Amino acid sequence: MEKYKPLIDKMKVFEKTYDIMRIVDPMEKIVIESEEDKLTMSDATCFDFWERGQMCQNCISMRAYNEDDIFYKMDYKENQIFMITAVPVWLEGKRLIIELIKDASSNMILGEKNSDGEVNNLSMIEFMGQAAVRDSLTGLYNRRYIDERLPVDLRNAALKNEPLSVVFADIDFFKAVNDTYGHPAGDVVLKEFSREMEKFVRKDRDWVARFGGEEFFICLPKADLETARKVAERMRAEIEKREFLIEGSAIKMTCSFGVYAVCGDDGCLTAEGVIRLVDRNLYQAKSLGRNRVE
Ligand code: GH3
Ligand code: MG
Ligand code: MG
Repeated sequence: MEKYKPLIDKMKVFEKTYDIMRIVDPMEKIVIESEEDKLTMSDATCFDFWERGQMCQNCISMRAYNEDDIFYKMDYKENQIFMITAVPVWLEGKRLIIELIKDASSNMILGEKNSDGEVNNLSMIEFMGQAAVRDSLTGLYNRRYIDERLPVDLRNAALKNEPLSVVFADIDFFKAVNDTYGHPAGDVVLKEFSREMEKFVRKDRDWVARFGGEEFFICLPKADLETARKVAERMRAEIEKREFLIEGSAIKMTCSFGVYAVCGDDGCLTAEGVIRLVDRNLYQAKSLGRNRVE
């Protein structure tokens, strides 16, 4: 704990400006707090503060960690609004984040009052938080979310010695859908395709993201290779049998899937490494004839 002391001493300058100052390891979700000069590692995770029972979707500390830069956001719990600043710092070769949190409930007015005289700040804050991590066309998580969440899930799996699997999906010959029916029709298919992908995962721990274009990334924490292969196979079969209705035309489509399971020996694999490996399997599915899981 002593090693954190110089950092905490520096933070004291801001004592009057912020309501909460804490050191966070956003990869492991650990919090180091200072109370009356005594440093403690909190039993709670950093996200427990927000009382949502889950990790923050728009985690600016992970963003600050990844990009080595300062990030800001507003967030809320119940009717309290907070302004949060995440500052990256280095300590003994390790990057940590100082979170400076200010209760701005009475200082922050973001919109017009409604007929009851209340300002609907919370939905605006919710919207901004989601906009940062969602793909605007499909509503799935975006590429940024993959970069911020996958390293955390990988670290968790390694710490708990649990499996974790990823699935990479790429729609087959999607260019032909655009060429035949037009780009707007292609967009509709991408949206419907996204809803299909979501049906096959567990909302409480799995997540589905649009990697880009017609490529989708699915993370299945706690799933071993066999489970992940089954999930991908169910997705593949459903897409193959389904018809996408566009302006009266029934469009048939197929999709190829790569699956990769991270096991104990892969403990030091980075998120980029996992993406590279699952992409290799997807490439294999494409070259072996498409509409298959590898
Ligand atoms: P393959 O089976 O090899 O994956 O063939 P493909 O045609 O799916 O692959 P390719 O990478 O050649 O084409 C992907 C197409 O996806 C090209 C692009 O026009 C389309 N696409 C990417 N993003 C969007 C989008 O946001 N909306 C629409 N409508 N089309 C998109
Ligand atoms: Mg593609
Ligand atoms: Mg494709």
